[in-house]
Amino acid sequence: MSTALWAKIQAFVGVTADGIPGNTTAEAVAKMLGIDTTPVPAPSGPAATDPRSAANIATLKPAAQTKAREWLAACLALGITVKVICGTRTYDEQAALYAQGRTKPGPKVTNSPPGYSWHNFGVAWDFVVFDADGQPQWDSPLMEKCGRIAESHGLDWGGSWTGFQDTPHIQLRMDCTLADARQLVTEGKWWV
Ligand SMILES: [Zn+2]
Repeated sequence: MSTALWAKIQAFVGVTADGIPGNTTAEAVAKMLGIDTTPVPAPSGPAATDPRSAANIATLKPAAQTKAREWLAACLALGITVKVICGTRTYDEQAALYAQGRTKPGPKVTNSPPGYSWHNFGVAWDFVVFDADGQPQWDSPLMEKCGRIAESHGLDWGGSWTGFQDTPHIQLRMDCTLADARQLVTEGKWWV
């Protein structure tokens, strides 16, 4: 359509006749035609699991995967932008992490040597809430909200621990100790 024709249409509907139709022109034309221009709201409903969370959940044992997905879906359904940022760590990965700040440079990031974190057994994951700009919000009240949702799903939330609190941490409720788990791994009988 020619610029001159758009300019005529714009003049007719009473907007600036620059010949370049934009939103203002479209709205004025729609109004003149009696078309409802109320913005259509975005489809609501739970957001889909993001790829990072999906990849981390996939590292967990099957029983933990199921619970992690249920928990994440419940958080997303409330409109909370939360991601699973860590799942299983192998003994080797835990050893590398434990070395940091001890035999390797960098700040200490864990107090657990290999076999002393539930992350080493595929039953624990860490999460963080993100703001609208995609920045992690470690101190957001929504962290507790996500933790309470985990508890309502029968999971253990690190924020409820007495002594050392690990707010981003969620795990299956375990009926054995880490020592038991280490022994079972050694025997090739770790259950989950
Ligand atoms: Zn953790």
